[in-house]
Amino acid sequence: MTNNVIEPKRVLVTGGAGFIGSHLCDCLLARGDEVLCVDNFYTGRRRNIEHLLGNPRFELLRHDITHPLFVEVDEIYNLACPASPIHYQVDPVQTTKTCVMGAINMLGLAKRLKAKIFQASTSEIYGSPHVHPQVEDYWGNVNPIGPRSCYDEGKRCAETLFFDYHRQHGTKIKVIRIFNTYGPRMHPNDGRVVSNFIVQALTGQPITIYGDGNQTRSFGYVDDLITAITAMMETPDTVTGPVNVGNPVEFTMLELARLVIEMTGSSSELRHLPLPLNDPHQRRPDISVARRVLGWEPTVQLREGLRATIAYFDSSLAAGHAAVDDASASISRII
Ligand code: NAD
Ligand code: UDP
Ligand code: UDP
Repeated sequence: MTNNVIEPKRVLVTGGAGFIGSHLCDCLLARGDEVLCVDNFYTGRRRNIEHLLGNPRFELLRHDITHPLFVEVDEIYNLACPASPIHYQVDPVQTTKTCVMGAINMLGLAKRLKAKIFQASTSEIYGSPHVHPQVEDYWGNVNPIGPRSCYDEGKRCAETLFFDYHRQHGTKIKVIRIFNTYGPRMHPNDGRVVSNFIVQALTGQPITIYGDGNQTRSFGYVDDLITAITAMMETPDTVTGPVNVGNPVEFTMLELARLVIEMTGSSSELRHLPLPLNDPHQRRPDISVARRVLGWEPTVQLREGLRATIAYFDSSLAAGHAAVDDASASISRII
C-alpha cells in the first residue's frame, strides 16, 4: 500500500438520493468507502441511486433527519434538505425543521461518535448581496420573514449550530457554501433555471424568463462540486470553512436561455414572467479561499456541463421520466 491511499471509511450521506447526494455516493463508493445513504425521499428519487442498490458497500435507510438517528459511522456528509425554491417553499416549516433540527441531530451524532461532519451550506445565506462577488466574511442581506427565509435562515442557523458545536464541543466541522449547481439527476420538476430551460427547450415549450432576465447567477457543474466536497473533508481538522464553492463565471438568465436554445437547436420562444419575491439580482462566488485551502478550481465550463445535462434530460424525456417523475418522489404529488 502506498502512503497516499485513503483508508476505506464508513460514511453517512444524508440526502444521498438527491441530485448532489447521489453523485457523492457514487464518488465515495468508487474510492472504496462504505456508504450509508439516509433519505426520506422528499425530493430525492430512487432512480438516482438504484444503480447502487446491488453494491454490498451501499446501504439505503429511509429516515427523516428531523428525528434522532443512532448509527455507527466514521464521517458524516449532511446534504439532506430540499434545495430548489419551489420545493423548499411547499412546506416551509418542514424546510426549517430539516435545516435546524436535522443539523442538531446530525451534530449530536457527530459529537457522540467524534466523527467529522460536513455541511452543505449555500450561497443563499448571502441573500440579495450588497457585496459582489461574495466573499466568506460577508454576512449577507437576508429577509428573515419572506418566502425564501425558511431555507436562507434555516441554512444560516445550521451554520451557527455547526460553529457552536465546534466551539462548545470540539466537533470537527467542514462547512462549504455551494453556489448554483447543475448536472445530470437534477429533478426535472424542481423549477430551477437550468432544468427548466433545458426541459422547455427540448419539449418546444416557451423558455420562461423571470423578470427582465438580466439577473445573474454563476453555474457550477456537479462533478467539480463533488471534487471540492471530498477535498474539504480531507483538510486538516483546523480547517472548518466556510468555503465558497462555485464557478466564478457569471451569466445573465437571458444569456443562459440563448445558450440552451442554441445547444438544443430548439425553436422555443422566450416568455417573460414576473420575478419571484426576493429573487437575488446577482450572485458570483469569490473562490480565493477554495483555491488556497482546497487547491480547488472548477474545470467544467458551462457549455461542456450543459452538453452532459442536456443529454441526461433528453434520455429521461425519451424514457418518459422527465415530465412527471417517478412516484417515489413525494414532492411530485404535492406540486
Ligand atoms: P435535492 O432536493 O436533489 O436533494 C436533497 C435530498 O435531501 C433529497 O434526496 C431529499 O429527499 C432529502 N431530504 C430532504 N429533507 C430530508 C429530511 N428531513 N430527511 C432526510 N432526507 C431529506 O437537492 P440538491 O440540489 O441535491 O441539494 C443537496 C444539498 O446541497 C442541500 O442541502 C442544498 O441545500 C445544498 N445546496 C444545493 C445547491 C444546488 O444548486 N443544487 C446550492 C446550494 C446548496
Ligand atoms: N442524537 C442523534 N444521534 C446520536 C446522538 C444524538 O440523533 O447518536 C441527537 C439527540 O437525540 C439530540 C441531538 O442529537 O436530540 C443533539 O445531541 P446532543 O448530544 O448535542 O444534545 P442533547 O442530547 O444533550 O440534547
Ligand atoms: N429563473 C428564470 N426562469 C425559470 C427559473 C428560474 O428566469 O424558469 C430565474 C430565477 O428567477 C433566478 C435564476 O433564474 O433569478 C436562478 O433561479 P434558480 O431557482 O435556479 O436558483 P436560485 O434563485 O435559488 O439561485
